[in-house]
Amino acid sequence: VIALGTPTRSVITTCAYCGVGCSFKAELNGDQLVRMTPYKHGAANRGHSCVKGRFAYGYATHADRILKPMIRERIEDPWQEVSWDEALAFAAARMRGIQARHGRKSVGVITSSRCTNEETYLVQKLTRAVFLNNNTDTCARVCHSPTGYGLGQTFGTSAGTQNFDSVAAADVVVVIGANPTDGHPVFASRLKKRLRAGAKLIVIDPRRIDLVKTAHVEAAHHLPLRPGTNVAVVTAMAHVIVTEGLFDEGFIRARCDWDEFAEYAEFVSDPRHSPELTEMLTGVPAEELRAAARLYATGGNGAIYYGLGVTEHSQGSTTVMAIANLAMLTGNIGREGVGVNPLRGQNNVQGSCDMGSFPHELPGYRHVKNPEVRAIFETAWGVEIDPEPGLRIPNMLDAAVSGQFKGLYCQGEDILQSDPDTRHVSAGLAAMDCVIVHDLFLNETANYAHVFLPGSTFLEKDGTFTNAERRINRVRKVMAPRNGYADWEITQLLANAMLEAEGRPLWRYTHAAQIMEEIAATTPGFAHVDYALLEEKGSVQWPCNDAAPEGTPIMHVDGFVRGRGRFIVTEYVATEERTGPRFPLLLTTGRILSQYNVGAQTRRTANTVWHAEDVLEIHPHDAEVRGVKAGDWVKLASRSGETSLRAHLTDRVSPGVVYTTFHHPTTQANVITTDHSDWATNCPEYKVTAVQVGLSNGP
Ligand code: SF4
Repeated sequence: VIALGTPTRSVITTCAYCGVGCSFKAELNGDQLVRMTPYKHGAANRGHSCVKGRFAYGYATHADRILKPMIRERIEDPWQEVSWDEALAFAAARMRGIQARHGRKSVGVITSSRCTNEETYLVQKLTRAVFLNNNTDTCARVCHSPTGYGLGQTFGTSAGTQNFDSVAAADVVVVIGANPTDGHPVFASRLKKRLRAGAKLIVIDPRRIDLVKTAHVEAAHHLPLRPGTNVAVVTAMAHVIVTEGLFDEGFIRARCDWDEFAEYAEFVSDPRHSPELTEMLTGVPAEELRAAARLYATGGNGAIYYGLGVTEHSQGSTTVMAIANLAMLTGNIGREGVGVNPLRGQNNVQGSCDMGSFPHELPGYRHVKNPEVRAIFETAWGVEIDPEPGLRIPNMLDAAVSGQFKGLYCQGEDILQSDPDTRHVSAGLAAMDCVIVHDLFLNETANYAHVFLPGSTFLEKDGTFTNAERRINRVRKVMAPRNGYADWEITQLLANAMLEAEGRPLWRYTHAAQIMEEIAATTPGFAHVDYALLEEKGSVQWPCNDAAPEGTPIMHVDGFVRGRGRFIVTEYVATEERTGPRFPLLLTTGRILSQYNVGAQTRRTANTVWHAEDVLEIHPHDAEVRGVKAGDWVKLASRSGETSLRAHLTDRVSPGVVYTTFHHPTTQANVITTDHSDWATNCPEYKVTAVQVGLSNGP
């Protein structure tokens, strides 16, 4: 219950929605939360916030919260409320029974990028030190896993290169596959401030996003590419830069591998990458493409910001590498105002990847096959770590359908709503003997669960989130957990329920700070991070260690993390998703300002009044030939499935392209999307689906 009254005390904490990581002052009257206001000393937001963060407390106190653990023998049975001890004993016995019958690799976990670093670290530790396998994955799989791969390959580390302050020194800003106004509103304000002061803007996006033309901001170039052709457009920009001699030879000779550059330069110089041939492929006018390339190469400090419109493609990793190539080609790395910057959708995508949530990497992006790295954790944890990488989320589901994967602990992630190919996800979940859902609400995935462990919100626990600029921000407990425990305590209780039954030593963390001590002791980039430093500095950006005791605002200043920057040939390969007579339009998706992802949280806050339903944006020409008028219900059908939405006629989308958001469960966007995915990481290709649109009678 929110009390109206005069605040008597306040707690500084961090927003749990997007990757900007705004600091907030939670003001209380006694134990009652009165309001949340943006914190003026927050390094990421400097006193600003958006409508999501301001009203986030609404979901913490919402009546839909499940506060008692529940179990059931079979998913057909009704839920039964039980004590924490009973629920944990039930869950532990089921998981141990599965491993006894089907082997230790028959169970795994999926963790959320909404959880704290400390919680995420414990979940992967549970997998590796209690389940004794590497079947741990994170929802970053379906958003920024290509960033991890692409920036790791080219620069040597899987993170954005700059701090947000850096944008103030940019002369040319490239925004590709991102819509900061809706997705990262507080960063968008800082970006617009710089644009109003004279920086030039290039937008590469199928849709005419707000930034293309808004109050006192107008893009110098908007490249409205056909969905799925990012690699071709970025490679054509490189073609112009190389063939016109606009590249930074001094930077490349000093900082990159010259032989790899030579091979890359020969590749991009090929006439098939010319703007004229690229126009036929992508729909981007050749002269616009040429002018944008020249501006980025010669306009001063060039900064690139990108989002899921880059990563959620069958060539997501290739596009990330193509972008990194472009930055190295022009020397736009290693100083203020430049760089390659993924805009992370969720508050702790960066942190969940840093903490070893992927099945092939231990914390700090170190491969499980590396015996020296395993030895660090084997010493710390007192177990032998499996040297074989575990299963990714889609592989877990495939293995479940074929009967080899039987138990899942799913923390803070509604895979039935957020992952591609809904039918396959439900088939996988239905085939398991034990699904443990650890969440705030009875989500869609919980329909297939045998155990429900009620989770805690960001207001009810201590910990840290790491934002899109690698900034480690403190999350501070504002109120006691309504469910009884912070999420890291629940993971510890589950681990101990299994360990105790096996006669193994128990975990004994009493505060999240102790988990951070263990992270710092085992993970070089976090070596100097502790809660005392965070109290003193407010926040720090990793790497934070002997070489950079107070953190690292800008990376790759004197050299790349991997040594020399690596140019990688990025050949465009068309997506397997093709339009045709039955499905002639291309659907792409995105977000709206007032809502967050699948809406589980924002739909339970005051934000609901701003966005009651998702709509389908369709160009007036495409609508007219189908007899569709504004506000009509239309059927949106793909090779995978169909759903109904109201039509919104707009020339923000080009003819041939339709667009929707995915914040409401009734939209069922993932019934429509395909099972194509990024070749390197399995990130789903959410951004390209061939569809047909026709009038319907509604849902
Ligand atoms: Fe800041 Fe993002 Fe939260 Fe909005 S949603 S307040 S931009 S962290």
